[in-house]
Amino acid sequence: MNNPRIVIDAGHGGTDGGATGNGIIEKNLTLDISKYMYNRFRELGIPVTMTRTTDETLSPTERVNRIMDAYGDEKGVIIISNHINAGGAEFSYHYII
Ligand SMILES: [Zn+2]
Repeated sequence: MNNPRIVIDAGHGGTDGGATGNGIIEKNLTLDISKYMYNRFRELGIPVTMTRTTDETLSPTERVNRIMDAYGDEKGVIIISNHINAGGAEFSYHYII
């Protein structure tokens, strides 16, 4: 893929905790994973941004706006939305091609 740019979306946040279990709150784990991914992509020299970097509440509209504001809907933009379900990790990938 030419000129990849990545938007990492840490699922949930703020008043929306997502799933809970075994003392884990989904919003915290998605943020940790998203920060790790962000740092790895930066190390690889790939342009990357995040929808949230703190424990904040995002409405669905706000989340989409942040995704679109990052790199628009150009070719090569990859959106990774992190969610953790009870049975294990599940990642959603959305490609704009
Ligand atoms: Zn979720």
